[in-house]
Amino acid sequence: MYDVNSTSADDFINNEEVLATLEYANANKNNIELVDKILEKAKLGNGLTHREASVLLACDIEEKNEEIYSLAKKIKQEYYGNRIVLFAPLYLSNYCVNGCVYCPYHAKNTHIPRKKMTQEEIKEEVIALQDIGHKRLALETGEDPVNNPIEYVLESIKTIYSINHKNGAIRRVNVNIAATTVENYRKLKEAGIGTYILFQETYNKERYERLHPTGPKHNYNYHTEAMDRAMEGGIDDVGMGVLFGLSTYKYEFAALLMHAEHLEARFGVGPHTISVPRIRRADDIDPSAFENGIDDETFAKIVACIRISVPYTGMIISTRESKKCRERVLELGVSQISGGSKTSVGGYAHPEDESEEETAQFDVEDRRTLDEVIRWLMELGYVPSFCTACYRAGRVGDKFMEICKDKQIHNFCHPNALITLKEFLEDYASEETKKVGEALIAKELPQLESSDVVKVKTAEYLQKIEQGERDFRF
Ligand code: SF4
Ligand code: SF4
Repeated sequence: MYDVNSTSADDFINNEEVLATLEYANANKNNIELVDKILEKAKLGNGLTHREASVLLACDIEEKNEEIYSLAKKIKQEYYGNRIVLFAPLYLSNYCVNGCVYCPYHAKNTHIPRKKMTQEEIKEEVIALQDIGHKRLALETGEDPVNNPIEYVLESIKTIYSINHKNGAIRRVNVNIAATTVENYRKLKEAGIGTYILFQETYNKERYERLHPTGPKHNYNYHTEAMDRAMEGGIDDVGMGVLFGLSTYKYEFAALLMHAEHLEARFGVGPHTISVPRIRRADDIDPSAFENGIDDETFAKIVACIRISVPYTGMIISTRESKKCRERVLELGVSQISGGSKTSVGGYAHPEDESEEETAQFDVEDRRTLDEVIRWLMELGYVPSFCTACYRAGRVGDKFMEICKDKQIHNFCHPNALITLKEFLEDYASEETKKVGEALIAKELPQLESSDVVKVKTAEYLQKIEQGERDFRF
């Protein structure tokens, strides 16, 4: 039975409730009166329920869809302003005991070279990442209790935080590892991780079990209840996501919001971020995994509907998507992107290595360098940001959500974006990017909506960065 407060995945992602939601949404998708009522509620910026949001997603009245898009843009601007946070994935190991049919790292794939980085190799990767300007990483590894035990992950996090090459530093390590125990989540918290990220892949249990035929990940309930255990283990911020294309997008969308409602009901804090990956072709992938692929327009609609349904949740898109697609969803709600990414083990320090391509988890569509991505963002009117301030200032979990729901977070984001962009321009940017960036900072500085004290401090910090000092934040 559907119960948002239950600790069982069968109840909080109740299949009958998802199906009833889809039926309700389909029956009401052209009910203008209801659509208008939901849009009015969404305009208040306090979010929508999974049923309301599903009606908007199903709606195919062109004029109403335009309203949805413009509301998504407005809400994004109100909550986050024009900053876009940058991060890079770091793959530690592609050993994996699971059988996910859509991922080339699945255990039965014998063509892919298996690789696990030593601490020395991780150090090299981190230096390479610091040398292009990254400050925030998402650590990735396959599930393998023998090759990638929790001790290996913890040691790697320690190594990553310990490296300061020239002016470089990784200031926030987010971790994307398999569902684990409360005890292990506690250890990750103690290691100082930022967000714990775990993609659900698909919420459709029957489909989930079929797409994950072997390995510990086959256990749908254990996987789906992982965020509860993470929060019980003291992790403040969790990042959710589905792999769009594995099941029907309407099912995933409704269930994703039900999951967010569940965390909010049980812990008082919804997800910190939602990622929106779409399935991509890769080595040794079962084509049946692609039955439910979605086009760019549907993808944009999903992003817009997530934005207005959970306005306080950051939204992430990776380099799986093309420049064109990223451009579209940036304005509709995405607040964080990866740039200059390698999706292989050891790909940053040794891009020339042949196994680099061979060990990639998926094809990267956007292959531009970080410098090019930064310049492109600025030319589109965004302020690229390497900010990691909230987690370091203790603005996490419910404290963060409170500020975010009050629409005050951009008062931190905007000055922090300018400061960290300035660091990037001083240390890593090409001449051309630097020119565009300096002009952008000069334009943005007078537009800060923060208090006078923050404005004066920001100007002061920018000057100090020019003189060689680093790592200021609000
Ligand atoms: Fe392993 Fe993750 Fe790939 Fe599944 S998706 S095979 S768990 S690396
Ligand atoms: Fe993210 Fe907080 Fe920095 Fe804003 S101020 S970019 S929410 S870390």
